[in-house]
Amino acid sequence: MKKIVKVAIIFITILGILNIAQYRTHAAEADNTNKNETQQVDIQQEESKQVKLKDDEKEKISLSKNKKTIYVGEKYTLKIKGTNKKAKWWKSSNTKVATVNSKGKVTAKKKGIAKITAKVAGKKYKCTIKVKNLPSDSKSTKGVIYLTFDDGPSSTITPKVLDILKKEKVKATFFVLNYSKSNEKYIKRIVKEGHTIGVHGYSHEYSKIYKSKKAFLNNVYSLQKKIKKSTGVKTKYIRFPGGSSNTVSRHYYKGIMRILTKEMLSRGFKYFDWNVSSGDAGGAKTSNDVYKNVTRNLSKKRGNMVLCHDFSGNTKTLNALSKIIKYAKKNGYTFKAIDENTPMYAHGVNN
Ligand SMILES: [Zn+2]
Repeated sequence: MKKIVKVAIIFITILGILNIAQYRTHAAEADNTNKNETQQVDIQQEESKQVKLKDDEKEKISLSKNKKTIYVGEKYTLKIKGTNKKAKWWKSSNTKVATVNSKGKVTAKKKGIAKITAKVAGKKYKCTIKVKNLPSDSKSTKGVIYLTFDDGPSSTITPKVLDILKKEKVKATFFVLNYSKSNEKYIKRIVKEGHTIGVHGYSHEYSKIYKSKKAFLNNVYSLQKKIKKSTGVKTKYIRFPGGSSNTVSRHYYKGIMRILTKEMLSRGFKYFDWNVSSGDAGGAKTSNDVYKNVTRNLSKKRGNMVLCHDFSGNTKTLNALSKIIKYAKKNGYTFKAIDENTPMYAHGVNN
């Protein structure tokens, strides 16, 4: 290499995000004791982002890896690491799209692309900012309840859950596991009755599914294919076993959740964690516990992604379900199944 290539790391810090704070809550799945902040995503952010930059004034700097998508109204501070010196100046190529102040604080104004350049110690650093409109549905999720059922289908619980949903005219979402021939009818019924089906996994066994990227992809695609065969629906919705925030995967592959969350998004999947946990797979001992866990954590100020389970023998949620729905209706909540407009609910990644 003729020219000296230096590596700089830009940390992109979230200063404030519209409509995000309201999605904060704590949740934990039974098989994942880890607690995490939840945020409405589509606007999911990583705490920091490492970006490699070629440092060269004459040559055009490669920006291929140095891109960031943010939403109208959001503010970020771009920081350049690797030098103690302050930027001499910050510049935006399109101030109608995004402005930047003398401290590197970017404000997203309207949809479009803006290239942000900083000059530090005689060298230029660039970052491409893509500004998008907020997902149109994000406001209409206020007071919406997304009931989600994991780990099914089961012959003892799933049909009864479906009966209640039918009676109450409520649509929900089922993140299923591999199913037997005899349970296929419930998969078909889920779809036929207007609910959403998503992939939880062909297997739920952490040691198998989180041992490699390939293993995880097989685990998703094999079930997606099977569901397609059963129902005609090619689902693009997933729920990671243990949630995207799980730490259990660390035992099998360090950093795999960081890899998988990105990978699945790039493959056109959306993943959904939760911000209300029924506790039915762990903490809740009775159906009344489930009722309390859910109703006490609902909020009108946000969408409510409620984690429940319909695995065999789980009567706790089943027995609380009608009461939960009645409470919610009485208090002005509405129910929706996950669809393409549903904003992602993602815990932060911990592995
Ligand atoms: Zn599960």
